[in-house]
Amino acid sequence: MASDDTDTTTTDQLTFQNPVDRYPSISPPEETQAEPGSQRELTPAADLGEHSYRGTGRLVGRKALITGGDSGIGAAVAIAFAREGADVAISYLPAEEEDARDVERVVTAAGRTAVLLPGDLTDADFCASVVDRAVEGLGGLDVLVNNAGKQIATESIHDITDEQLEATYQANILAMFRLTKAALKHLPPGSAIINTTSVQAYEPSPTLLDYASTKAAINNFTKGLAQQLAPQGIRVNAVAPGPIWTPLQPSHGQPAEDLPEFGQSVPLGRAGQPTELAPAYVFLASPESSYVLGETLNVNGGSPTP
Ligand code: NAD
Ligand code: MG
Repeated sequence: MASDDTDTTTTDQLTFQNPVDRYPSISPPEETQAEPGSQRELTPAADLGEHSYRGTGRLVGRKALITGGDSGIGAAVAIAFAREGADVAISYLPAEEEDARDVERVVTAAGRTAVLLPGDLTDADFCASVVDRAVEGLGGLDVLVNNAGKQIATESIHDITDEQLEATYQANILAMFRLTKAALKHLPPGSAIINTTSVQAYEPSPTLLDYASTKAAINNFTKGLAQQLAPQGIRVNAVAPGPIWTPLQPSHGQPAEDLPEFGQSVPLGRAGQPTELAPAYVFLASPESSYVLGETLNVNGGSPTP
């Protein structure tokens, strides 16, 4: 993230423009970062919307917990939510403190509160305590964005260690159940839960068997939970990103040799930038989507979905 990240340009997400070249097609180097990856070290840099996202008052006074809010899609969502008038709590791994501080700066520059919550969501106790700490720091909670995710590419099923298998399921789907259970004590009618799934839920890559199957589980969980919570006035939806340039990808999320062509095969011909995801989350969090429940909003550059 650039140092002067509080400026906004005259071009924002509402400016009429051609989506093909809103961003260039990127060709990242075959470089690998250590897991969980760093936004600061991402090459080329990604757009989190810090210079461009313009709020229009759609989340004024809202209180949101965003897991994985230090970088990538979660950071873009935190920045957009703050510019729309929400206070945000972000959870992230302790190794990601610098990225989290960068997001905190943009949120506070928008005049909103940022609550920073480092910890490991594969730990069931942390899942419960992170919700309580978010509620305490925000003075309540009415949006839960279950966005944290782990993705490690492996050539063969034989290369997926039990440790990797369990950590991926813990972080991607078990934490979602636990965070949701903990949050429900606090969420008033009108609240929204938004789960980050993936195009991988329907088009699994042969190198992502563990990850892709958690995403299929998230789709199913979202549709079931949406029906269960509808009578309480809590709406549950999902966002399914396609190839988005975030630290997840070069930190073993893709085979390194695939990075130079990342995202180029979608109909729009380029990878998406994290800020291009933010409006989908804003829409699903906002009261304007009052009749939208159990939906999966695909933001994937045009790949057909079921
Ligand atoms: P990212 O690396 O920026 O964000 C993922 C975040 O998950 C990390 O920043 C980290 O804070 C968090 N996380 C991972 N394991 C954790 C753990 N054990 N405890 C606590 N936090 C943990 O990458 P991103 O691409 O923005 O990922 C956000 C979500 O988007 C993920 O659910 C991912 O599966 C999904 N997604 C990404 C893409 C893509 O192309 N980037 C495509 C489809 C779906
Ligand atoms: Mg991160």
